[in-house]
Amino acid sequence: MALIVHKYGGTSMGSTDRIRNVAKRVAKWARAGHQMVVVPSAMSGETNRLLGLAKELAPSGSSAALNRELDMIASTGEQVSVGLLAIALQAEGVEAVSYTGWQVPLNTDSSYTKARIESIEDSRVRADLAAGKVVVIAGFQGVDDEMNITTLGRGGSDTSAVAIAAAMKADECLIYTDVDGVYTTDPRIVPDARRLHTISFEEMLEMASLGSKILQIRSVEFAGKYRVPLRVLSSFTPWDIDINEEAKSGTLISFEEDEKMEQAVVSGIAFNRDEAKVTLLGVPDKPGIAFQILGPVAEANIDIDVIIQNVSQEGKTDFSFTVHRNDFARTMELLENVVGPATQAAKVQGDPKICKVSIVGIGMRSHVGVASKMFRALSEEGINIQMISTSEIKTSVVIDEKYMELAVRALHKAFDLDKNPA
Ligand code: ASP
Ligand code: MG
Repeated sequence: MALIVHKYGGTSMGSTDRIRNVAKRVAKWARAGHQMVVVPSAMSGETNRLLGLAKELAPSGSSAALNRELDMIASTGEQVSVGLLAIALQAEGVEAVSYTGWQVPLNTDSSYTKARIESIEDSRVRADLAAGKVVVIAGFQGVDDEMNITTLGRGGSDTSAVAIAAAMKADECLIYTDVDGVYTTDPRIVPDARRLHTISFEEMLEMASLGSKILQIRSVEFAGKYRVPLRVLSSFTPWDIDINEEAKSGTLISFEEDEKMEQAVVSGIAFNRDEAKVTLLGVPDKPGIAFQILGPVAEANIDIDVIIQNVSQEGKTDFSFTVHRNDFARTMELLENVVGPATQAAKVQGDPKICKVSIVGIGMRSHVGVASKMFRALSEEGINIQMISTSEIKTSVVIDEKYMELAVRALHKAFDLDKNPA
């Protein structure tokens, strides 16, 4: 008997028929003798609908008082799903009970709309499990010290599930979703992308932060910190598929490098279209200049990604960095009106039509020439690299957005990701 956490996303919970299907699947696991905790999202589209209503009535601007109410409203989406799922389980003849975040309680800080989990009190849940019940806990939400309802940020149910699995030392956390696992890259761009049977936690962290939207990045961080065995799998297989087969399906996010069967140097190609590049030309190259440029940007709460500074010529240098595309206009304004004049830059330039493409793999630690192979593949397609950044297990390039798909395809091929590993 194992303690298992299942998480079902909005699509899997999208209609009463689908919820019935989830209930049948969970009932199968419970009947196999497992203790089951289930964490569903709101029915698909529901969180957007609720926040849309709020937006119609909200004052302009943002404030903690407004965000508190947004959490109050958005959290109801999951409250409905847990109740529906518990009823559907009862209809399957399984004893089930649902809880909201505050009933557990799942304690968070008070940063409404992006709260962080601080602790989980699991005695009530454990008592139910011991009594043979399936426990259904609302994802995405928690409660702060003052009993205010909080939410964990969009996509936050993944993090709820992993945090609950960590707190309860579950044997495995299974994230059921509308894709059947983690792929070498997006199959919509490369049709022969392959599903990975395992991916290391560090690679998954890179893939998630580089724009692969399968898991909320915080859930991956959580899984890493508490070493929660995590599996991403499809909720669209027939519910009565053999449980042993199901338990091995999808992609396992593993912590043991030698457990990794697929010892490819590069495991996946990630990409991110949501970036924009800004450049300050002809800034005096002197100590403190990077801080003078990036200080005000950080103060404005704008996240900076890739940064490059050129070799200076006659005491002047060019300085470029990328930001989220949503922050592009604000960043340009800041550079043109504040940073540019303060640093005596000759010119400010911006390009919102760029993207970032990355190769990821823990094998890069022990292999040389991986980056140069990447650059050769791109050059053979005539793609100009504008910026490069590297870490131990990834190399990213910033290129013109219009070459993104071409770049992803070329790299997928260059690193043999379409071939089954030996
Ligand atoms: N329902 C929330 C959202 O749409 C949380 C989640 O689905 O994970 O963002
Ligand atoms: Mg999700």
